[in-house]
Amino acid sequence: MSDYEQVLYERIGPVARISHNRPERRNAEGTRMLEEMERAIAEALADDSVRVLVIAGVGNHFSAGHDLKEGESRRHYSVEQRYAHEERLFYDFCLKLRDAPKPTIAQVQGACLAAAFMLANMCDLVVASEDAFFADPVVNTLGAAAVEVLIHPSVLGMRAAKDLLFTGRRMDAREAYKIGMVSRLVPRSELEAETLALAGQIAKAPPFALKLVKRSLHRTMDMAGFRAGLDAHFDTHQLSHASAAFGDVWEKGLSTAIESGRKAVG
Ligand code: ZN
Repeated sequence: MSDYEQVLYERIGPVARISHNRPERRNAEGTRMLEEMERAIAEALADDSVRVLVIAGVGNHFSAGHDLKEGESRRHYSVEQRYAHEERLFYDFCLKLRDAPKPTIAQVQGACLAAAFMLANMCDLVVASEDAFFADPVVNTLGAAAVEVLIHPSVLGMRAAKDLLFTGRRMDAREAYKIGMVSRLVPRSELEAETLALAGQIAKAPPFALKLVKRSLHRTMDMAGFRAGLDAHFDTHQLSHASAAFGDVWEKGLSTAIESGRKAVG
């Protein structure tokens, strides 16, 4: 069962904590990590003794997002190849986490960027430490139309979503807490304990009632067009991958993209 290399799977009472575990690469999400994370989430959902899932990161950062080095190897993918890859590993994977029938909490410290911003925001609640920061800089750095799941307006509000996506700037944990994207803001030293305390409190509620209320909350969003908006954005995002601006970034080389990313997030 627990033969994970890039994910740490821990059981703590009724909680399954699934952590990005590649701290030497700022927990960059490559294919292996995402496949392991998908498997770990399925393991936690299949286990009746797990009541709450926590998604976390080992080390100083939650995650800096998708592994750009690995991404470079896909620069000459056809539209069909890229669509299939991103649909399976980026889009469907994220929505499976969003639709998980058990409550989910993101435990965030340090960088939470681009694809990691997307992943953390698939969770029902977000607990962040004061050093956490969030950004989706890929409009500015890669010429891409945001990340694959356009979760931003529903967790930030439309005004802040535009601010962040147009500028690529960082939002610190305090600002994220103020606008309601972060559910609990805590000192770094208390991040794990506070997240587990919150998970433990939720774990006391009857699982079937939690499952049903989550389903109703999501159906309310879906009936207002949430899921259709995400589906539409995924296709729009694929169009941006075929643009000259996106191609130019990779022609100039990965280091230029990473450097402009560093500048964009400050
Ligand atoms: Zn993409």
